[in-house]
Amino acid sequence: MTDSRYDVIIIGGGVVGLGVGLEITWRFPAKRVLLLEKEEAVARHQSGHNSGVIHSGVYYKPGSLKARLCVAGAAAMIDFCREHGIPHQVCGKVIVATDEQELPRLEELHRRGEANGLAGLRAIGKEELAEIEPHANGIKALVVPSTGITDYAVVCEKYADVIRSNGGTVLTSAGAVGIRRSPEEIVVESTKGAFATRSLVNCAGLHSDRVARMAGDDPGIVIVPFRGEYYDIIPERASLVRALIYPVPDPQFPFLGVHFTRRITGKVDAGPNAVLALAREGYRHTDINARDLASSLGFPGLWRMARRHWRNAVGEWHRSLSKSAFVRALQDLTPGGSGVRAQALKRDGTLVDDFQFVPSQRMLHVLNVPSPAATASLMIAKTIVDSAASTLGLC
Ligand SMILES: Cc1cc2nc3c(=O)[nH]c(=O)nc-3n(C[C@H](O)[C@H](O)[C@H](O)COP(=O)(O)OP(=O)(O)OC[C@H]3O[C@@H](n4cnc5c(N)ncnc54)[C@H](O)[C@@H]3O)c2cc1C
Repeated sequence: MTDSRYDVIIIGGGVVGLGVGLEITWRFPAKRVLLLEKEEAVARHQSGHNSGVIHSGVYYKPGSLKARLCVAGAAAMIDFCREHGIPHQVCGKVIVATDEQELPRLEELHRRGEANGLAGLRAIGKEELAEIEPHANGIKALVVPSTGITDYAVVCEKYADVIRSNGGTVLTSAGAVGIRRSPEEIVVESTKGAFATRSLVNCAGLHSDRVARMAGDDPGIVIVPFRGEYYDIIPERASLVRALIYPVPDPQFPFLGVHFTRRITGKVDAGPNAVLALAREGYRHTDINARDLASSLGFPGLWRMARRHWRNAVGEWHRSLSKSAFVRALQDLTPGGSGVRAQALKRDGTLVDDFQFVPSQRMLHVLNVPSPAATASLMIAKTIVDSAASTLGLC
């Protein structure tokens, strides 16, 4: 027995699931759309615990989904914020090289950015850096004028409002706990009852591999949670950072590299680092979930990755546990918030780098949407709907 019937059910009320809901209700107003979110409100996980940066797309490999969807997605995000009165600012950022060894990587970033179609990128020296960010100490920097900031929790609330006004349903406190597939329909058992649907989109973030398995599909990856911790700069010293100051990233670990972010609220923080979390929703050191831990530790890919990158891992753990190591030269910090990244890991120990959307009969699993997925959410949604409209029976 089911309570209701839908054309599409989306599992997950983060920025990606809500973006997909928005796109479907815009383009197919006659379709009955239901979004299920297990928490009491939307954006309670990655989408509400991030740096709030509207990324420009400078980092990503030209031609990758990340590069294409980030550049177009940033423009779409700014338009959406403007249209709906969501606070945002295109403040630009500087990527700062602090020693000679970083210069080739900084130049490579400049080339990548240009290949990705970014306008206004500029390499600058020490003097000009001092004019833009007087307290940043570097030998050279790359100015990225199109980077912005917003609050993605507010963006998510607005996505949910627009879905509802387009005729869709967003149901919170409704965790999907079982999925049954038959030739005629898919039935999703949830904590708020059972719902039948013709098609399903899995946008469950930190649990997307489990939801794929719940539906009888082998995702071929395991989601490994990496916690990112922030320190806040005390308000009296927030003027040290005018906008966004980033280090030159390590190409092997795109999410490593503590940066300074001026939030849309005016608060400035430093972070995030990246440490293996002991629970998928483990926002504190003390959060441990036996099932999550077993799923990470029991996956051979984790050990293969650990063998390759243990030095970085030990460094990040050390910084995580020790404020003085985290900041070394920086004073005036207080512990801030944290977020947990859902990172898909393959059996061979490699991190899935690009966005990954996997179609399966009348379903689509969104299995890897790390940063810059909040920025790119409207374009991720458009790409998913363009490519899977027939799989999902939308047209
Ligand atoms: C520390 C950090 C900093 C970041 N900084 C940035 C940034 O500055 N800019 C940027 O563009 N990106 C950034 N990102 C990345 C960005 O936040 C994520 O890529 C994006 O939020 C992913 O959205 P999502 O909808 O896939 O996941 P989530 O927001 O995690 O949403 C998934 C949802 O699914 C729900 N769910 C799970 N299982 C079930 C179930 N069984 N039934 C019902 N619901 C379920 C969860 O409760 C959750 O609400 C950052 C991420 C982190 C963690």
